[in-house]
Amino acid sequence: MREELSLRAYGKINLGLDVIRKRPDGYHEVKMVMQTVSLYDSLRLKKKEEPGIEVRTNLPFLPTGPDNLVYRAAELLLKEFGIGEGLFIDLYKKIPVAAGMAGGSSDAAAVLVGVNRLFKLRLSRIGLMERGVSLGADIPYCIMRGTALAEGIGEKLTKLPPMPDCAILLAKPPISVSTRFVYGNLRADSLPWHPDIDGMTEALAEGSLSGITARLGNVLETVTIPAHPQIQKIKDVMSENGAEAALMSGSGPTVFGIFKDKETAGRAGRKLRSAGLAKQIYTVRPFNVCRNGRR
Ligand code: ATP
Repeated sequence: MREELSLRAYGKINLGLDVIRKRPDGYHEVKMVMQTVSLYDSLRLKKKEEPGIEVRTNLPFLPTGPDNLVYRAAELLLKEFGIGEGLFIDLYKKIPVAAGMAGGSSDAAAVLVGVNRLFKLRLSRIGLMERGVSLGADIPYCIMRGTALAEGIGEKLTKLPPMPDCAILLAKPPISVSTRFVYGNLRADSLPWHPDIDGMTEALAEGSLSGITARLGNVLETVTIPAHPQIQKIKDVMSENGAEAALMSGSGPTVFGIFKDKETAGRAGRKLRSAGLAKQIYTVRPFNVCRNGRR
């Protein structure tokens, strides 16, 4: 019987992020085009005889108790199914933290999938997504992965045709941005413009990279960039150094640039590093998923 499991939790970028309105319950209704990228955290789940959840991570500043989303994801399933055994979770993070790349949500999604497999709970993908949304709006998408339209609070998902292959340069400046601050300061009812999300889904259907780059847009930039002007500088350096287009992901501060090849992306990354604009810099690719859930 399997006692241990290794999993990958992939990061995401938003090719488009629009906010439709603030609901009376305080949540924001969004319309987003999500894309998984090939940068991932590694997780190892191991059953242990003594009850309890033990989390170990390579980042000393991350919580290892119930404040870590992987702990909460494991607890949710172990409690619901009355499992007496314990679980050890080893989390090796590469996705930048508090960066707009849904790293924590993706880790939690991987734990839900892993606990389901390890303890043979026989929950369907939909069953896992329904449970995941109680921990975070992005978790159902992180279970689905690939290219998707996310509506509602991010949990209503429609699969989209995969993003064409390209090089994606990720650069996170050394600042922390709180998602709560960004949404709290967004003037959802008087946004100056809206990204063309429908045009983006058409460009994906046509497999047109130029159609995608022409429509990149994120309304959260209207809050995060004035608070952190270095985000605009990173976008400018990417555009001046061969990016087809560059955009902030999620609530930031990570910026991604879309390039035709990884050599040009790498050169732009070196410029950003030498200018001291970002330390966490990665060249990645779109990660697309086949129908069986694997690449
Ligand atoms: P999103 O794009 O969904 O807003 P994010 O990339 O902005 O996510 P995360 O990296 O998921 O943000 O982390 C946000 C906060 O959650 C951090 O301040 C961190 O302390 C906490 N956190 C809890 N669990 C995790 C985890 N497994 N990985 C990273 N952060 C975690």
